[in-house]
Amino acid sequence: MNRHLLQLSIISFAGLITLLMSSTNPVKGQKSQPNIIIIFADDLGYGDLSCYGHPTIITPQLDKMAYEGQKWTNFYVAASVCTPSRAGLLTGRYPVRSGMCSDKSRVLFPNSTGGIPQNEITIAEQLKNAGYTTAAVGKWHLGHRKEFLPTNNGFDSYFGIPYSNDMDRKKPKEISRKEVFWEAKSEYFNVPLLKDEAEYERPANQETLTKRYNEAAVSFIKENKDKPFFLYLAHNLPHVPLFASKEMLGKSKRGLFGDVVQEIDHGVGQIMEALKETGLDENTLVVFTSDNGPWLSYEDHGGSAGLLHDGKGTTWEGGMRVPAIFWWPGKVKPAVVDQMGSTLDLFNICSNLAGIEMPVDRIMDGYDLSPVLLDLVQSPREELYYYRGTSIYAARKGPYKLHYITETEYTKDNNKIVHEKPLLYNVEVDPSEKYNIADEFPEVVEAIDLMVKQHKAKVVPVKDQLAERIKKNK
Ligand code: MG
Repeated sequence: MNRHLLQLSIISFAGLITLLMSSTNPVKGQKSQPNIIIIFADDLGYGDLSCYGHPTIITPQLDKMAYEGQKWTNFYVAASVCTPSRAGLLTGRYPVRSGMCSDKSRVLFPNSTGGIPQNEITIAEQLKNAGYTTAAVGKWHLGHRKEFLPTNNGFDSYFGIPYSNDMDRKKPKEISRKEVFWEAKSEYFNVPLLKDEAEYERPANQETLTKRYNEAAVSFIKENKDKPFFLYLAHNLPHVPLFASKEMLGKSKRGLFGDVVQEIDHGVGQIMEALKETGLDENTLVVFTSDNGPWLSYEDHGGSAGLLHDGKGTTWEGGMRVPAIFWWPGKVKPAVVDQMGSTLDLFNICSNLAGIEMPVDRIMDGYDLSPVLLDLVQSPREELYYYRGTSIYAARKGPYKLHYITETEYTKDNNKIVHEKPLLYNVEVDPSEKYNIADEFPEVVEAIDLMVKQHKAKVVPVKDQLAERIKKNK
């Protein structure tokens, strides 16, 4: 083949690839890449919004988002506690693949040395490659040492607390543990508020935290209205200790927890308003969800999983099924979607909408749900693995969920039960997981078992990023 012919065939091959890529992209023909905003609440349960049935927490902005967009009722997180759940969302991979879950330490602590490995690709890194401006506002919890911070993981800027708002405790001796939470003061929790990588305030004034996060989100939108952007707004609340700004205190009949959720809802309204004002609303996908279920042991300071069983820290539905709302006027088809989805799928959705290829050098665990969002077709997701640490406690296939191990959240007497005969529930018919039907459906038990074996065969052990902690010199 002479050089001219070779060049021609290379050009036509490249043309064919471009054509193939554009024909699989549902947003082809779109003038510009859409902006993407992910709003992530902390420890907000399935039953904590009025559009998900809460009788006294009133969330008109989220209700509006759900009405104008899609409300998903079978949407799951990658783990029922903060660190692994967040790793799953940002990487599109079960945290067992990145080492961001552990059987020794459930989350990262201020004395932890690990964090998200450099070879993981976050949604922010992926979108940066597609020309997006990226910002993280709020809770990080994927490592607080410099190399693990958002600014070293694809985000152009960061403003937030790098871990949970209940850490770095500085409790005065005379105050009981209960008082620390029920009469919380910012100074009891010496958590840093960072701007990019530098300490901006310590302890962070938590009373104004949600308000300031909302304001930072609105500023970012306005400052970047002329170019595609990705905003990851991960609220520290309603994780305990609860704080709300003066303007929001006492506004809800559900006590302080309700006030906090309503302040988050108020911020959602401010964000939607900013999008309308800048004319970006028709070119922006907004996603709202939560990192795990409600922290039930904190009683009225924890949320509610509604009709779902149990909460945070467990692999029952209440621990891992969360509210999820998708909004993009004129694009996302308004509906209540009762098919399965997961935060693991957000990486695929963002990649596809931005017109960027998925990584091919690693196992990805997500599905591209954008055809469901845009055209209401069948969800490609039909299974989910419910991990606790590095173990699979349960698995769902279609309407059926099989529990191998059940265990309550964190308590010392944690009632871990390894079921010699796994429990089977039809979570579409029986979302509260009350009626074990394993004996009636042995073929379903067998099919899920096979699916789990095949999944496990593709999990390669990696370094546990959560295990290592510096001992306190006391
Ligand atoms: Mg959480």
